[in-house]
Amino acid sequence: MPEALEEFLVVLAYSTKTQLAVMFGLAFFTGTLTAGDYFASHLELHDPPAPLNEMFREKIAHRYDKAAWATLGSFFLLAAKCYKRDKNGYFDFNIYFGNSCQRHEIRILIKAQPRNRRMRTELMTEAICWDLSSKITAEYALANKDFGYFCPHPICLQEVRPKKIRNAHFFAPGNHVASCPNEPEKVEGKGTGTTPAKRESIVPPPAIPTELGPAKSRIGKKRKPTIKELLALANSLQAMPPVCAGTLQEVVSAWLQMPEEQRPTKRLRINNAELSYESALYCLRYFGDNPIEQLSSDTRIVYGAARLDIKDDCYWIKSVKAITAGERKLNLVIRVTRNNSLADQYIANLLAASPISTSFTLFYFGDLPKLSRSGKSYVVSDDISDDYRRFVVVSA
Ligand SMILES: [Zn+2]
Repeated sequence: MPEALEEFLVVLAYSTKTQLAVMFGLAFFTGTLTAGDYFASHLELHDPPAPLNEMFREKIAHRYDKAAWATLGSFFLLAAKCYKRDKNGYFDFNIYFGNSCQRHEIRILIKAQPRNRRMRTELMTEAICWDLSSKITAEYALANKDFGYFCPHPICLQEVRPKKIRNAHFFAPGNHVASCPNEPEKVEGKGTGTTPAKRESIVPPPAIPTELGPAKSRIGKKRKPTIKELLALANSLQAMPPVCAGTLQEVVSAWLQMPEEQRPTKRLRINNAELSYESALYCLRYFGDNPIEQLSSDTRIVYGAARLDIKDDCYWIKSVKAITAGERKLNLVIRVTRNNSLADQYIANLLAASPISTSFTLFYFGDLPKLSRSGKSYVVSDDISDDYRRFVVVSA
């Protein structure tokens, strides 16, 4: 059976109001036509000329015909409205059974019942993206506004769009279905209707980045999903974290706050490589006597202990670990001139926040450090204008 017809029949089977509207429509249609026939056939004029009698009968039958079709049309319109409203209000389950040779599938659809309605008082910050087949944060969605985003609750699945006024969030140009937890609280508006309550622009706790950004735009699927496809996607993503592109600073903060045992389980994509918070960060301590070419600082984040000194009107950040360069061992060095540049302000803020810190950790993602002109160190660029390829220093 074609999918659309199957979907139509299932929704119709659950939508009592649609069924009633269709039944009443057909009943009134038949009743009005029968009544028209009855009155037309029993019409008797006193001493009328025969043609006049016939003409009145036709007129009455015609009027009843018109009334019957108008009634049928009105009820079908009502049925269409009820159908549209109930279309999204059901859960979809696929149950599989059998063995390795034979596999059977049963599809069960259950009408969602509005129960203890929990409405949202804060902004909606997560949605499912049809084009990327992922759960997405609003921040991420802002980089790909043309993609299709939908409310993640299987009972709703209404189309939503990303927007940023003060904080990034999703809004539904139509309405969420009545029992959706993302439905905004309503307040009494002017006149007879209600309007969505003004919601606090609550900043949710930062999502753990699932990739080192920036958020890349990818080619979308360019086709509207069917409800069945959306339900399957929403169900498969229910336990998944949202896709979120982070800056190097955000990735490092998430890594520092994450319990060590969780790091292998949290994914982190770098340059389209699927890594984890454990495999994506590499400690310089384990680098041994390998040459700098094997550092791979452009495919993973390297980190290690560092010292920070102020000398000759410059900040000098020097790695504790020295890397082999022929016969010698050289430190990674960043020289930040105190000239009110971005890097200067960054280090000044760091020292202001932790004035008594003496030990620091240096994180770096970017091109391989280069040998300095004097040949006494490996130079890491002090340019931090790129949020993703730069150094980050935190007090240890
Ligand atoms: Zn919704």
